[in-house]
Amino acid sequence: MTDKELADLIFPNVTKSVEDYEKIYPKRNLSEGARVTRFAPSPTGFVHIGNLLQALTDFLLARNSGGVYYLRNEDTDTKREVNEAVDKIMETLNYTNLVPDEYEYRGEIVGNYGPYVQSERKEIYHAFIKHAIEIGRAYPCFCSAEELDVMRKKQEAKKAQPGYYGAWAKCRDLTNEERAERIKNGESYVIRFKSMGNPNRKVKYNDLVTGLIEFPENNNDMVIMKSSDLLPTYHFAHLVDDHLMRTTHVVRGQEWLPSVPLHIELFQAFGFEQPDYIHNSLLLKQDGDVRRKISKRKDPEALMSYYIEKGYPSISVIESLMTILNSNYEEWRDEHPDVSFLEFPFNPAKVGTTGALYDLEKLDNISKNIISKMTKEEVYEELSKYTEVYDKDFYEIITANPDYTKSILNIEREQEKPRKDYACWMDVKESIWYMFDKLYKPESFEWKNVVDKEEIKNILNTYMEKYYDESDDKDTWFNKVKELTKELGYADNMKEYKANPENYKGNVSDISTVIRVAVTSKSQTPDLYFILKLLGKKRIIERINNL
Ligand code: GLU
Repeated sequence: MTDKELADLIFPNVTKSVEDYEKIYPKRNLSEGARVTRFAPSPTGFVHIGNLLQALTDFLLARNSGGVYYLRNEDTDTKREVNEAVDKIMETLNYTNLVPDEYEYRGEIVGNYGPYVQSERKEIYHAFIKHAIEIGRAYPCFCSAEELDVMRKKQEAKKAQPGYYGAWAKCRDLTNEERAERIKNGESYVIRFKSMGNPNRKVKYNDLVTGLIEFPENNNDMVIMKSSDLLPTYHFAHLVDDHLMRTTHVVRGQEWLPSVPLHIELFQAFGFEQPDYIHNSLLLKQDGDVRRKISKRKDPEALMSYYIEKGYPSISVIESLMTILNSNYEEWRDEHPDVSFLEFPFNPAKVGTTGALYDLEKLDNISKNIISKMTKEEVYEELSKYTEVYDKDFYEIITANPDYTKSILNIEREQEKPRKDYACWMDVKESIWYMFDKLYKPESFEWKNVVDKEEIKNILNTYMEKYYDESDDKDTWFNKVKELTKELGYADNMKEYKANPENYKGNVSDISTVIRVAVTSKSQTPDLYFILKLLGKKRIIERINNL
């Protein structure tokens, strides 16, 4: 029995050939040097920050070269319902504006190289597996899970290389007649790739990040089609898809490095052009004295939902990943503070190879800086969008009087050195709740320098009766606070106070703290002048009376 006959027996209904698919998915008509990249997550129900790093790399490579960046859902190993998981992936890509040029979403296919969901490509894979059998590079394997388990244990005991190879590969040398007979008898089987590799020989390949890497050749007859659902395994699906979708650059995590020899062998067996590989380093977290892989179980920041739910502007997350992606990004950013990250000359060779430290504090600093540069209108708009989904009550409050809210958000904004209070939209409420009567509940405050209740009342009453005037400009306002300070026996000049503290009851900052705490419950707030002005005299008096 010929290999061709065996292939026909296994795939009687496959009508299209590899050549047919080459015509259906022709080479892309792109200019020289244009890169075709893909973001190919498995729809597991969550999107890892490392996934975003890959998507960003894909996006940059394609954008910088006039190429194409597409999304492929690799669901061949997923038994679960994938729709919701795909929603999550699209949510992340929409949130970060890394929207692919080609994708499939809720049944709609955008692009000519789809379907872009692997479980919908079974027919295509079968044509390629059939071809592999025809050319003698794949065969059915009837070993049961129990038999394979016994094999694994024996290998362990002998400290032999694990896997299905050499004398261990029992089904590799069956005759086609034996295979046909067992298939006709209804035995269950998987299809394995027939490796010609020899681990004593080396395979070399040039990783765009890591440079030239040498590995022993693969000699493992890997499963390429499962028996349970007749879908290919990841290794085979990626071969077919990256070839037919005409991918030029495969960006993925370093955990895939050990699979490279197998992938190279697969591409060679089919005579397909090898894509370039970029293996991104793993993201690490500083945990006490050690650096470890950031983990979705231990670290909430490992998942994209963390950033979306807290309301980080997506550009902050992107900017922080850019600093990880290329070591010279921060320097470039300092020199070009106002241009888009897309202008950055991204270079894969400058991607770190040893694991990159992912630091939330750094993200917060980047984000505070970004938000501080936004106008009050932008902040208001983003905050409204965020709270409408994640904090409906606050949304109602801030949108009831947009001008008032914008004035609050504008305190020490739109100026040369703006305040850097917020890293994410969730931070805002914590910072300004006391400006809204619906939220204001005086919090207990531990007075430090001025402790006497009567003295506090005296300060506030004198201030309101003699000095506070809503129409004062900032300088006049501050001069009046100083006058109050002097009148009550406090120092209005810090130098003098420091020289002779015993001469005074306290100093001007004690006085402003009393006023600040009396109207906000907080000892630290943005500029008190604007807070008082926005609250207005009536509310100031109400709050003082409620102390
Ligand atoms: N589906 C694989 C994963 O999620 C992708 C690997 C690749 O990009 O080739 O890890």
